Amino acid sequence: MRTGILGGTFDPIHIAHLHAAETALVAGRLDRVLFIPAGEPWQKNDRVVTGANHRTAMVALAVGGVEDVPEFQIDTREVERDGPTYTIDTLESFPEDEDLLLILGADAASGVDTWHRAKSVVERANFLVLPRPGSDASVAVSKLPGAELLEMAALDVSSTMIREMAKEGRPFRYLVPEQVHEYIMTNGLYLTS
Ligand code: ATP
Ligand code: MG
Repeated sequence: MRTGILGGTFDPIHIAHLHAAETALVAGRLDRVLFIPAGEPWQKNDRVVTGANHRTAMVALAVGGVEDVPEFQIDTREVERDGPTYTIDTLESFPEDEDLLLILGADAASGVDTWHRAKSVVERANFLVLPRPGSDASVAVSKLPGAELLEMAALDVSSTMIREMAKEGRPFRYLVPEQVHEYIMTNGLYLTS
């Protein structure tokens, strides 16, 4: 079993996450991609992160809505765990014989050396890295032994940008799955922060 892991804050999930996941599924010859929302993203302590319930609900809507991709699954083990979310704890919760591939945008990939128990992370998982505008993917890959750089359409989209658009009342409907847009509007997310 080759399992891809796409971890993120998903505040909110957007089209680049989904395109990255599909790219990794196909180019990385994965059996499945698990979308794992972070419980307490400790590297984002400088801002208020939306409650895990909302972030998880949006990932569930996005993944459930992609009906022709049964290999996409939501996995809530990180939001169910207490304390700061460390990727190594997630990796160690899988059976030892399962191939784990972390799917990372170039920005995230270049920060792996700052993660908790980074050496163990690198030993346990392999890496599929996707280009992201504003980050040098080749530098990120060169720091990660065995990492594979995949080709993907450069999408200059971020959750930060979408939160700002929502707050300012600017349109962002087509940057997220339809059901996620509806969820954000219905629940009045991102109006104040
Ligand atoms: P934020 O702006 O709040 O940090 P984000 O858009 O970066 O949100 P995250 O949840 O932080 O989204 O990212 C989860 C994963 O998805 C990371 O590995 C990140 O690099 C990757 N990712 C997010 N957006 C893109 C993108 N536009 N292109 C490639 N990878 C992306
Ligand atoms: Mg980010």
